[in-house]
Order: sequence, then C-alpha cells, then structure tokens
Amino acid sequence: MNNWRAWAGLLAISGLCVLWLLGSPRQEQEATLSETRLLMGTLVSITTWGHTEDESTRVMELAFAEIDRVEAMMSRFLPASAVTHLNNAPRGEKISALPTELLQLIRQGLEIGQMSKGAFDIGLAPLSDLWGFSREPPPEAPPPASDLQHWLTLRANLPDAAIEITPDHQLRLANAAVGLDLGGIAKGYAVDRAMETLLANGVTNALINAGGDMRLAGSKGDKPWHIGLRDPRQPNGVVAVMDIHKARAISTSGDYERFFLANGVRYHHILDPKTAAPARSGLISVTVQATDSMTADALSTSLFVLGEQEGLKLLQRFPDCEALLIREDGSMVQTSGFIATRSRSP
Ligand code: ADP
Ligand code: MG
Repeated sequence: MNNWRAWAGLLAISGLCVLWLLGSPRQEQEATLSETRLLMGTLVSITTWGHTEDESTRVMELAFAEIDRVEAMMSRFLPASAVTHLNNAPRGEKISALPTELLQLIRQGLEIGQMSKGAFDIGLAPLSDLWGFSREPPPEAPPPASDLQHWLTLRANLPDAAIEITPDHQLRLANAAVGLDLGGIAKGYAVDRAMETLLANGVTNALINAGGDMRLAGSKGDKPWHIGLRDPRQPNGVVAVMDIHKARAISTSGDYERFFLANGVRYHHILDPKTAAPARSGLISVTVQATDSMTADALSTSLFVLGEQEGLKLLQRFPDCEALLIREDGSMVQTSGFIATRSRSP
C-alpha cells in the first residue's frame, strides 16, 4: 500500500507552492544556504542565512533527522509507527507503553478539537481512508454515500471520549469510527521540533518550509524573510506578500492542495466530521500566523472547517494568532495583526 512518501511527488508539487520564499538580491543569496528533502509526503526545505556552509550543513542534517524521527512515530502510513500500532489495536482495548511525546501531541490535538467544537478532529482516520486522498493513484470519485452514512452512524454512537487517555497514560480508541489521523497537526509539530534543533545548535537565522507549514527565526541580515502566499485558483499568482522579521510560524490550509474534480464538484482533503464530506464553509484558503507551527497548523485546518464566523471566534481565544481568509468569491479578510505588506483578492 501507499504511504506519505510514495505520494510525495504529487503532494510536493501542490504543497510546496502554497507558501514560498520569494527571490532575493544576489548579495543576500550568497549568504543563503538551502537544502530540500522529501519527508512527510512533501518537500521540506530548510534555509539558513549568514552561517558558514559547514555549520549550516551539519545542523540542517540534525534538523532533517528530527523530522524523520517524528514522522517515524506519527505517520499512519508507516507500518512500524506508534500511530499505526494504535490504529491496528482492537477498539475498546487500552494500549500502553506509548511515547510520551505522542501522547502529549494527542492531548493538544484533543484540546483544539474541543475548542473547535469537534470541527478539528484527530480521530478521522477511518473517514480519511474512505475518501482516500492519500491513495495512489488519487481517487476520481467520492466514496459511496452508504459508506459515509455507515461511518456517520458509527460515529453517532461514540462516547464523549472517543480517544481516551487514562491517568496511567494508556490510550483507548472507542469504536471503529475512530482512528488516529494526525495529518492536520503533526507536520506543524515536526517543523517546530526541527526549528528547535536548529536554534539549539546555534543556527539562529533560518526558515523551514514543509508544504503549507512554515516557521521562521531571525532574519536575512537587516532584511525580513519575504514570503508569498499562493493564489488558490492560479498556481503562479501571489495574493499576499508577508515580510516577516520576527520568530513566527505560518500555516495554510486550502481546498487546492489535494483535491479531485468529479462532475464539476471539487472534492478536497479537509473533511467536516459533521457531514463526512469535504468541508464547505465558504472558505477556500486559510492562513494562520502563530508563535509555533503546531498551533498554526491545527488552527488553519480548524478555521477552514468552521468557516469565517465561527473560525474567527475560535481565533480570538488564541491571542498571539492572526489569520487571512479567502472566501469562495475570492474576496479576502484578515485580522488586524496579520503581517502582510501587500495583499489583494485573487
Ligand atoms: P496539509 O495536508 O497541507 O497539511 P492541513 O494542515 O489542512 O493540510 O491538514 C489536512 C490533513 O489533516 C488531511 O490530509 C487529514 O490528514 C487531516 N484532516 C482532514 N480533515 C481534518 C479535520 N476536520 N480535523 C483534523 N484533521 C483533519
Ligand atoms: Mg493544518
């Protein structure tokens, strides 16, 4: 069966273009070092500024290894991961000896899930499998309505704690409607770990870009990092430019990253647990700026599902987070503290 890596070619093309580092003058380029690898089903690039090649190469290696380590634990497509172990366990059974780090991320995912009133749900693996956006080749039609209805019925029977962590650190998945899919949060988490690795090893001017998840530290000398946000409907268009010169994380969730068209309908990979279908909230793209990538990642997915009104309400509970939303008609709305030097509707 396929996994994130096998799918990487496709994802890379779409994912990488969501947010990208815009070009810079020659002198700046000379001090810039960059390396790109295929990880977590996407192209991950690390860029440093003003560090020697030896230092940069050595520390980037550690950061890539850290992403690899997180993926090996949290991917539901790798047979030996802790997440696969959990997903394969009989429902209702308590599973022990799980990595503390994984339990911690699950707790954080559950918390955002609660705050979003269930719009963000790290337990959607069975539904994600029905839709099959990570399948190779990608699907050409939605799953049968009866399968989705069956999932909704099973889900209606879930107890409040569909994913339960016991006081003695065991984890239980309640029934067959639930399975771990950390795809809306783990990439951001891995980017955070990688950035912490860079910083802890003396690389202070750096940018990590993992598809739609980006994290920045320091600057390019006296220049900010210059980031472009892709036009959701025009692969070469830029709808916003962000000049960022402080430690910040940026994450974008859109209906144009992984999707297929069937009978003129766009089916994309961000699912609404209430309908069992791709979220139709009136938004086509959500970009969140936050202090850390995990929060930015989870919130961009959450806001996408919730839509403008409920989404902005949720955002208010995160004082250091800002968002730019693009509506179906192409108009845009951004919160007052969102850093964008230039933005225009697509
Ligand atoms: P990307 O795939 O570019 O990282 P997102 O951060 O928006 O995009 O995450 C989408 C992924 O999150 C899906 O591929 C799936 O694994 C998972 N997902 C889909 N719908 C939801 C949801 N409602 N809540 C949480 N995770 C979701
Ligand atoms: Mg996300």
